[in-house]
Amino acid sequence: MAKWVFLGPPGAGKGTQARRLSIERQALHLSTGDLLREGMEAGSEVGQQARSFMEAGELVPDDVILDLVFWRLGQEEKDPDVIFDGFPRTVGQAEGLDQRLMEVGDAVTRVIEFTLADDLIVNRVAGRLICRKCGANFHRDFLPPKRVGVCNQCGSAALYQRDDDRPEAVRRRLEVYHETTEPLHTYYERQGKLVQLAADDDVDVIFGRLKACL
Ligand code: AMP
Repeated sequence: MAKWVFLGPPGAGKGTQARRLSIERQALHLSTGDLLREGMEAGSEVGQQARSFMEAGELVPDDVILDLVFWRLGQEEKDPDVIFDGFPRTVGQAEGLDQRLMEVGDAVTRVIEFTLADDLIVNRVAGRLICRKCGANFHRDFLPPKRVGVCNQCGSAALYQRDDDRPEAVRRRLEVYHETTEPLHTYYERQGKLVQLAADDDVDVIFGRLKACL
């Protein structure tokens, strides 16, 4: 089964596209950011370990992330198609994933790198709204919900702005992306698995491009 990795800076639209693709292909959407936020809401140990890192826009340590991802994969009865969204984010995580997949005779299928200029990102992220209930993403200007504050997808009045979408935290997340996550470009390019996707366009246009990349 396919194992796709969605790589790219915060606010590049990985989550929106991953959610859509997971529905169309009946794939597991595995977002480490979503899992960590769920853990924080539920007050789980992993949520407590992650909170201070997330609020500061720093990365959660690799061992916490790898345990979380492997736990989530272990919840599936069959081997599904998986979209890894926002994971891996360090070379250590990528090696951990490769190792784990190799043990079960599998490998990453393809890595889609969403590209977007830094100066567009802070504005994009500052307008982002997320549904607390189903995780759907909206944007005040580019993808507004049909009714203010209400999720189009599940109908709950639970749209909110993430704490780490504040401009200071976004700037730090971008620095971290360039320092620590961008080296994955070379890591996956060497494996011949990297495809770049220009993410500066309409959601539907990007979805068309994405499908052509798979
Ligand atoms: P995201 O929702 O993907 O933007 O992630 C939000 C925050 O969760 C990040 O800024 C990190 O603090 C943390 N996080 C999510 N995924 C990872 C990961 N793979 N490795 C380390 N930290 C992560």
